[in-house]
This record gives sequence, structure tokens and C-alpha cells, in this order.
Amino acid sequence: MSSISRPLVDPFGRHVEYLRLSVTDRCDFRCLYCMAEDMVFLPKRDVLTLEELRRLSRAFIRRGVRKIRITGGEPLVRRDILWLFNALGAEIDAGALDELTLTTNASQLSRFAHDLKAAGVRRINVSLDSLDPDRFRALTRRGELKTVLEGLDAADAADLAVKINMVAIKGGNEDEIEPMIRWCGARGYDLTLIETMPLGAVDVDRHTQFLPLSEVRRRLEQNWTLVDSDHRTGGPARYVTVAETGQRLGFITPLTNNFCEGCNRVRVTCTGRIYMCLGQEDYVDLRAPLRQSGADELLDAAIERAIGRKPQGHDFMISAQGGNRGVARYMSTTGG
Ligand code: SAM
Ligand code: SF4
Repeated sequence: MSSISRPLVDPFGRHVEYLRLSVTDRCDFRCLYCMAEDMVFLPKRDVLTLEELRRLSRAFIRRGVRKIRITGGEPLVRRDILWLFNALGAEIDAGALDELTLTTNASQLSRFAHDLKAAGVRRINVSLDSLDPDRFRALTRRGELKTVLEGLDAADAADLAVKINMVAIKGGNEDEIEPMIRWCGARGYDLTLIETMPLGAVDVDRHTQFLPLSEVRRRLEQNWTLVDSDHRTGGPARYVTVAETGQRLGFITPLTNNFCEGCNRVRVTCTGRIYMCLGQEDYVDLRAPLRQSGADELLDAAIERAIGRKPQGHDFMISAQGGNRGVARYMSTTGG
């Protein structure tokens, strides 16, 4: 691997060192806030091959990306996905990459946990919005809580560190936030709460789902000791330590409080579009340069062009008056 000659620096002086790579738009769940019931998925020919995803990742690594998160859709439903984990794990062994992680719904995790660890994955994020089997099925439209819990057991057995992501849904799971803090404490998991973002057209009004985390935090402070933490990931989460459990609790608050100024990441979809911001429509196509030439000059120039267009931040809004400001594509398209 050649040394980094030109790191990726955006117009605001932020070094881009973190790539979120979506490997599929498909999923075995249909979470209410993420997808519509009748999603139309991309034709296979539009989706980058595993070899193309590796080449693309390497192009970013050469330009200074040190952390890659594999996401989707549900990454573990993509056929032969372990091949990509093994290929990128080799970049860690070579000292070219610091971290390879995964965001998953854990439905397939019991099959994969051991091999993911062997590939070089150390930490994973698991999305889990409810610990009640009926509610879990309703929120995911088809998920089985039991399977997810088996996946988590396998992750524990493989010694993968787990962080739970929980989207806070008004009237949906807000009564489960405190039980989730307790459960995560008992299992030794960190927990991050996420505000619903206006991404894609789902079958319910976003406003009815939106629960401001500023309000949740105020409520939690009545029963828990939340100690501010300076833990940062270059992302939008702000963390506290829950004194009673010793675990970290994060808040991702794109609506009530955005923290775009330190953003060090970009997202690439499974069709090779790079989105410089989750909350903006602008993108640069990397698939054409990738397929046009076996050498990486065109690809590298397209990446450079994209980083030069990274905006200062998003301007999401969810309003009771119906004036939501979001983006048309789904979170499962961009990769969460
Ligand atoms: N399928 C995997 C999973 O659920 O972890 C990875 C992809 S999923 C799109 C990544 C994350 O995005 C999940 O934690 C999910 O809860 C979150 N998410 C999806 N749609 C969202 C939305 N509209 N607002 C906020 N978070 C969302
Ligand atoms: Fe699938 Fe993840 Fe979206 Fe749920 S949040 S529908 S698991 S991609």
C-alpha cells in the first residue's frame, strides 16, 4: 500500500478519515422509520461487486481513511460478505487501516460473529429498538427478537464489543429507554439513542414519530446520574457515562442540536455514490470512474472532487406544521 501523499481535507479544514460503506440496500426487516412496506430494491447490476467495493475502500485508505464501517441495508444479508470483511481485515494487518466495524440488525449475527472477529472486527453496532417480542415485530414489521438476542449472545461469545443503537420513537418505545439502559448495563453494552431523521418517504408522518432527545435527557436525569464524557468519534453523538451502570450513553440529535462542525466522515452507497453529508442531496458518482478504468486515477480524482464539495452541515427539520426538511433517499440507501 502506498503511503498517504495527500490526505482528504474538506473546504472547512476537516480531515476525512472515516468511510461508511453501504454494501446492499436490501434488508430482511422493514423498520417503520427506515423503510416503506413495499420497498423496491435496486437491480443487482447497479450494485458494486465485492471486488469493486474493495478497490473503492483501498482508494480511500490510500487517501488517509483509517476507519471503515460496513453498513446497509442489512450488510449480513449480502452474499459472500465475509470475503469483503476478510479483504479489509487484511488492511488492518498491513497497518493501513485502524478499524473495521459493522452496523447490523443482528438477525444473521449468530452465524457470522465468530468469523467477523477472525476477520479483524473488534466492535459492532447493533440496532435494537425494543426488548418486547411483539413490539419488536411491529417496529421491524418482520423481525424476531429471539434471533437478534441469539446473535448478541454469539457476539459476546466471540468477544466482540457491542454498542446498541436505539431510535427513540414517540409513543413507540419511549417507555423502554430506561429498561434498555438497565439491560445494556447488565450486558456490558454502550447505548446510543438516535432522533428519527426525515430520510425517505415512510408510511407514517415523521412528526408523529419524532421524540426530541433533549426532552428524553431531561427526564432521564431525574432517575440516573449522567456524567458528561469527552468521548468523541468525530460523529454527531455526544456521550455521558451512566454512573449507576458504568456504561456510556450517547445522544444523536440531528434535529435538536447538530454537531456537524467536527464531522470527519463520508458515506458511499452500494451503487458507488459518495454522499458528503447524510442530510444533503449532493453526491458524486464513483462507479463510472471505477468501471471506466482499471487504474485508479479517475477514481481518485472523483473522490477529490467530492471532498471539495463537502458541505458545512445538514439542515434537517421536522415540524408539526408539515414543513419537514429532509432528503428523499432512505437511510438504507445511504447507509446509516
Ligand atoms: N440494517 C442495519 C441496522 O439496522 O443496524 C444497518 C443499516 S440501518 C439504515 C443503520 C441505522 O440507521 C440503524 O441504527 C437504524 O436504526 C438507523 N435509521 C434508519 N432510518 C433512520 C431514520 N429515519 N432516522 C434515524 N435513524 C435511522
Ligand atoms: Fe433494515 Fe436496518 Fe433499515 Fe431496519 S434500520 S429496515 S434493519 S436497514
